[in-house]
Amino acid sequence: MSLLEKFIQKIKENNPNEPEFHQAVEEIAESILPFIEENERYQNKKLLERIAEPERIIMFRVPWVDDQGEIQVNKGYRIEMNSAIGPYKGGIRFHPSVNLSILKFLAFEQTFKNSLTTLPMGGGKGGSNFDPKGKSDAEIMRFCQSFMAELYRHIGPNTDIPAGDIGVGSREIGYLFGMYKKLANEFTGVLTGKGLEYGGSLIRPEATGYGVIYFVQNMLERIGESIDGKSFVISGSGNVAQFAAEKAIELGGKVLTLSDSSGYIYDENGIDEEKLEFIKQLKNEKRGRIKEYTEQYNDAQYFEDEKPWGQKCDIALPCATQNEIQKEDAQKLADNGVQAVVEGANMPSTSEAIHIFRNSGMLYSPGKASNAGGVATSGLEMSQNSLSLNWSREEVDQRLKDIMTDIHEQCVKYGKKGDEIDYMKGANIAGFVKVAEAMLAQGVV
Ligand code: GLU
Repeated sequence: MSLLEKFIQKIKENNPNEPEFHQAVEEIAESILPFIEENERYQNKKLLERIAEPERIIMFRVPWVDDQGEIQVNKGYRIEMNSAIGPYKGGIRFHPSVNLSILKFLAFEQTFKNSLTTLPMGGGKGGSNFDPKGKSDAEIMRFCQSFMAELYRHIGPNTDIPAGDIGVGSREIGYLFGMYKKLANEFTGVLTGKGLEYGGSLIRPEATGYGVIYFVQNMLERIGESIDGKSFVISGSGNVAQFAAEKAIELGGKVLTLSDSSGYIYDENGIDEEKLEFIKQLKNEKRGRIKEYTEQYNDAQYFEDEKPWGQKCDIALPCATQNEIQKEDAQKLADNGVQAVVEGANMPSTSEAIHIFRNSGMLYSPGKASNAGGVATSGLEMSQNSLSLNWSREEVDQRLKDIMTDIHEQCVKYGKKGDEIDYMKGANIAGFVKVAEAMLAQGVV
């Protein structure tokens, strides 16, 4: 049995029934175990074993009363994964699929991603199996308050700083912050993604999506190309997808698709700024479905229960959720000659899909590198909060651009493979080195 197989077998034994977590650890271990073998400094320290074991997991009951007066009970979680390089940092996800496996994979990935941002942030993630779909505003508020009634005692601006993720946007962050402030009796930057009026940062809503496109720019520049004239297939229609589309359009790209969990829209003329504004209103204010786009723009087509990966394009940006690109989807992308797959979501491609990307010579960037702009800007929000001042839009945007360029450079440094760059290997190793060095310095704790 190879070293990797042995390692993964142990992970599976220690963490039964957690397939997403196994998948995330295996993807990292593939790059890190050979790297450790080549570097004596990291040998016999059980570094990856330690990183794969959360420092702490908090699990709690979230009871709340719905609009019909009925009592509901959900599960609440916070995974405090790794604090070697800074306080735990990572989003909160509200989605019916949330379980320990999904949150542990996300917290594990977050540790490497946060390390790549160059900012002092450890890894964490939290959430609930609560389904926000169809809930009234009052129900969302009561749920957030109940969630925070337990979580508040575990977090703090120097301990653990949650933010948004799927199902948690500015509205939810507002309700969570309000309850934290009331219970802790202090006004601090304990959450990021806050509204501008109470300590939020400009560009934070745009940051993940913009960051993805800045990363695409970096990848293309390295091979002497640019975004101008490239066509994009994007999945998702939430925060990440919306702002990735916005920046792609601004830089001369043509955005052909967006999707939600029911299907995708294809607009052969391209989704322009005005059409994107319609989508933002539809999704963010009316909380409607992507299908409604075709009622407004009759030329566009709607594909029910399908994913957009069969559409021809230059660049594919999965910005919806984990494992949305499976083997067959990856094969379609490769057969269509797609130039790059750049992940906006966390672990949107299965291991088999990644295998196809890497063997077909496509450019491929894992989410931990290309979607790090969101959490990086959360880090900038934290800096502004502790300085008690606000940076301008231009200043935050410039810092975000610089961070994405820096992440790209780290991938290039550690991911060289002849003339090509293995972004996955580069991101994994660069993320690992910083955390490993901090852990070595701090001893066995
Ligand atoms: N949920 C986002 C991520 O996956 C952002 C986390 C944060 O800002 O803390 O990185």
